[in-house]
Amino acid sequence: KEPALGSPQNTIAVLQKYHFIFQRKFGQNFLIDTHVLDKIIRSAEISGEDMVLEIGPGIGTMTQYLAQAAAKVTAVEIDRALIPILEETLEGYENVTVLNEDILKVDIAKLAERENGGRPIKIVANLPYYITTPIIMGLFENQVPLKSMTVMVQKEVAERMQAGPGSKNYGALSLAVQYYAKPYIVANVPPNCFMPRPKVGSAVIRLERYEKPAVKVEDEKLMFKIIRASFNQRRKTLANGLKNSSELDFTKEQIEAAIGSLGKGASVRGETLTLEEFAILGNTLRQSRR
Ligand code: SAM
Repeated sequence: KEPALGSPQNTIAVLQKYHFIFQRKFGQNFLIDTHVLDKIIRSAEISGEDMVLEIGPGIGTMTQYLAQAAAKVTAVEIDRALIPILEETLEGYENVTVLNEDILKVDIAKLAERENGGRPIKIVANLPYYITTPIIMGLFENQVPLKSMTVMVQKEVAERMQAGPGSKNYGALSLAVQYYAKPYIVANVPPNCFMPRPKVGSAVIRLERYEKPAVKVEDEKLMFKIIRASFNQRRKTLANGLKNSSELDFTKEQIEAAIGSLGKGASVRGETLTLEEFAILGNTLRQSRR
């Protein structure tokens, strides 16, 4: 079957037929641009062997494209009002399963086990922006077997995920994402590609999961506490950020020695450190505790 949705006219026709009412609280902005859909599908590099998880299928526009490219698609949609619509728009697509659930409550590792024999899956989604970070970090932290995520997010969030040291967008999110995956912004997408139009710009980002995290750390939790502390107080020195953190309890001497071991001066700022340097800092501080 050829995808039949994806234009403004067809989307309006489906919405009117079911008297669908957009729910703001669910971050509903449906894609109405076939070029953007093609771009997402191409950059997701889906093959006939892949199992794809789509988060928030809406009326099933992208789901139709995914069903054509992948072996299997599971689409998780929270809004009950969309389920009868999806039954119609996905009729005849035998390889699609729709689950009416909250993605934050789904055990995705279990789903991958059940649907794909535990082999890595691909995530493709036009995400609900109000829960972008919990969805992405949840997928990484809960050890879901994952090849890649190709997702539409708020433009500013995509820029933060891709930013490196020295950039104004660099922060805890950049480091958290880059610990697990290689980010690559595929396209910027303006508000007029959606219905209704979001108030913010959007971007498609591809996150390629590393087989092993990008750096070796003895205590991941500690490293991320250090990262948060370093960015909590921007424009302050790294040493002050770490000393003032309520999450950390190292002495002034331990902190200064650890920073010194990076070969940096006392006035270095957290936002100039690379992920490797945060890993070393974490490992050094951990050892100094013994
Ligand atoms: N994929 C569709 C498209 O591109 O036209 C819709 C994308 S829209 C930005 C986000 C979708 O996620 C909506 O259909 C919304 O109802 C759904 N959604 C919101 N919160 C969700 C949650 N917690 N779990 C699952 N789906 C959710």
